[in-house]
Amino acid sequence: MQHEGNNAKAPRRSNKGEYAPHDDHGDAIEPGLRVPNSSLDSCGKSFVAANGNRIKTPGDHFSDTGVIAAVCQHDRVIVYASMWTPGEQQFYAFALIDAVMAELPEHWQVGILYDIGCQIHRSALKWDLLPQWMPHIIFAISVFHTYGHQWVCQLWYHPQKGDVWGLTDGEGCERLWSDL
Ligand SMILES: [Zn+2]
Repeated sequence: MQHEGNNAKAPRRSNKGEYAPHDDHGDAIEPGLRVPNSSLDSCGKSFVAANGNRIKTPGDHFSDTGVIAAVCQHDRVIVYASMWTPGEQQFYAFALIDAVMAELPEHWQVGILYDIGCQIHRSALKWDLLPQWMPHIIFAISVFHTYGHQWVCQLWYHPQKGDVWGLTDGEGCERLWSDL
């Protein structure tokens, strides 16, 4: 759904009933996504994790600047990795996804909840990352973080608006950090 201004016209739909990409007002919905670029841009600007340039830990005193983890639905750690950059960069998430997916049966459909699920979904498609896994992955946003996203982003990435998540909230890492 997009703001159409005074010359409102019905959004174009593809044969699949999804909104087709169009470039009115310089905005567009990229193939494979359902959220317009303008909303994804706003999401990206509003999140610390999406801003890899934001320095959380100065790297000049520590070789490791943090730890990142992937946990399962039951909050058990599957993969830990050291971070070595001052900020949280998206490549850590892709590295963890790659490590986890490599251990799973190839026919599994895997749901991944992340604070900035919309951003890594966009990056994966834009840069053709993890092409072997993408057909098996569904992205969503951890439930406490969804409310910080644009409303149109919430419509597609809020786990309680999807039919595959049940009550899974994607906040297992927050509970892990709290336990630690
Ligand atoms: Zn978003």
